[in-house]
Amino acid sequence: MTKIIDLSHVIEPGKAGRKFTLEMVGAETVNPNVIRLENQWYIMHNISMVSHIGTHIEAPYHILKDQADLAAIPLETLMGPAIILDLRGRAPKSAIGIDDVRSAAERAGGIRPGDIVFGNLGWGPFYGTERYAGNPYFPPETIAWLADHGMKLMGVDAGGVEVPGSEQHVSHYALFSRGIPLIENLTNLNRLSKSRVQVCAFPVAVHGLEAFPVRVVAVEED
Ligand SMILES: [Zn+2]
Repeated sequence: MTKIIDLSHVIEPGKAGRKFTLEMVGAETVNPNVIRLENQWYIMHNISMVSHIGTHIEAPYHILKDQADLAAIPLETLMGPAIILDLRGRAPKSAIGIDDVRSAAERAGGIRPGDIVFGNLGWGPFYGTERYAGNPYFPPETIAWLADHGMKLMGVDAGGVEVPGSEQHVSHYALFSRGIPLIENLTNLNRLSKSRVQVCAFPVAVHGLEAFPVRVVAVEED
């Protein structure tokens, strides 16, 4: 049987912690050629939002102005086999070392070239609470190890991977200088029963944009 698991948070406008507002308008205000009868429910919206909201993907263009924006990320990067690294039970704000990801990868059957790598920090349930910001992090050498073993896309069930207080954004740089996008705020990783799943994570393709919410979906086959 095929099981489809949503790894994305639902965005609740006005409650997302960052700017995300919907302004409902009649369809005729967007397209004067359409006919909308008085009181007819025929709506569109103006959206005002921060690009980093909810479960979102960051393109290398986030910190490297000459690198890929959302529209330039190859589709091949955004789907395919994913390995789930079980990194739960770690102290807040602790560094995840090479030995940690190596043993988690071994337990999950090994990273293969071209894998999507999701770190399950067990942090998803803290989303929206004060604890959420204290996630364990991935120093650049750990990210380099994952990249050297074939990681093409990274995701975590936390607000990020960065070394706390890093002014040079060293973990972001380790990813983006290698062309690896990052998905932040994954959820439901605990609902996966396998350490290898198929994943799709397609944001809309926008030129000149560095991040956008993304619907991340895992497919498990029995
Ligand atoms: Zn972000």
